[in-house]
Amino acid sequence: MPPSRVEAPPPEMLMLPTGLTAVAWRRSARARRVSLRIDPRDGGIIVTLPARASRRAGLALLHSHIDWLTARLRALPGAVPFVDGAVIPIDDVPHRLRHVPGHGSGSGSRPGSGSRIEAGELVITGAAEFLERRTHDFLRAEARRRLVPLVAEKSRVAGVRAKRVTVKDTSSRWGSCAPDGSLAFSWRLVLAPAFVQDYVAAHEVGHLRHMNHGKNFWLAVNEMTPHMAEAVPWLRAHAARLMRIG
Ligand SMILES: [Zn+2]
Repeated sequence: MPPSRVEAPPPEMLMLPTGLTAVAWRRSARARRVSLRIDPRDGGIIVTLPARASRRAGLALLHSHIDWLTARLRALPGAVPFVDGAVIPIDDVPHRLRHVPGHGSGSGSRPGSGSRIEAGELVITGAAEFLERRTHDFLRAEARRRLVPLVAEKSRVAGVRAKRVTVKDTSSRWGSCAPDGSLAFSWRLVLAPAFVQDYVAAHEVGHLRHMNHGKNFWLAVNEMTPHMAEAVPWLRAHAARLMRIG
């Protein structure tokens, strides 16, 4: 057969000393160079290629960083999946996840009626096959219930208005502010202490006035929250652990 000029599809899985690992390939118009990172949520590898880079360049980078990837994967905290009996922090307080089948079963798409936080437990109702999704939905709603009033309170202090507040599953950021004034937060903030939620809300509201991390931005954040000094190191110390939950 003549040599083909068509590149072979890149591997979706890679065998590492730590085990079989998923590889996701991304094209990015904004990326300046080929890069590798580990998705802290599931321990998968993400290869980002700039618009003009070849997959071969991504493969070369991947294969020259096997030791680095292996070390990073070994350093990940243990995963805490949403299964019956798992211990999940809510506002930094451990709660045992208790699955109660029977209530609200039959539909996985409806919000779990009867799911609740009760006496140190996170009680999730519904059929077993929907437990993971219902737990996600419940915690996302709980994150929203905390963050929306915080954003409203900080916005009043700063004299700004968020266009919209969404709660998402993000892998690298606790919050973000879009140029149109929409704020987005990670649902995992519900796992963190209240003072951290307060700080992250203030940080993103601060970006409604200053789309940068300049001196005036930090002064504005400091006016909206007394917790910056403790929240920033807390997030740095606990980010990896929180990303492994759920
Ligand atoms: Zn920022």
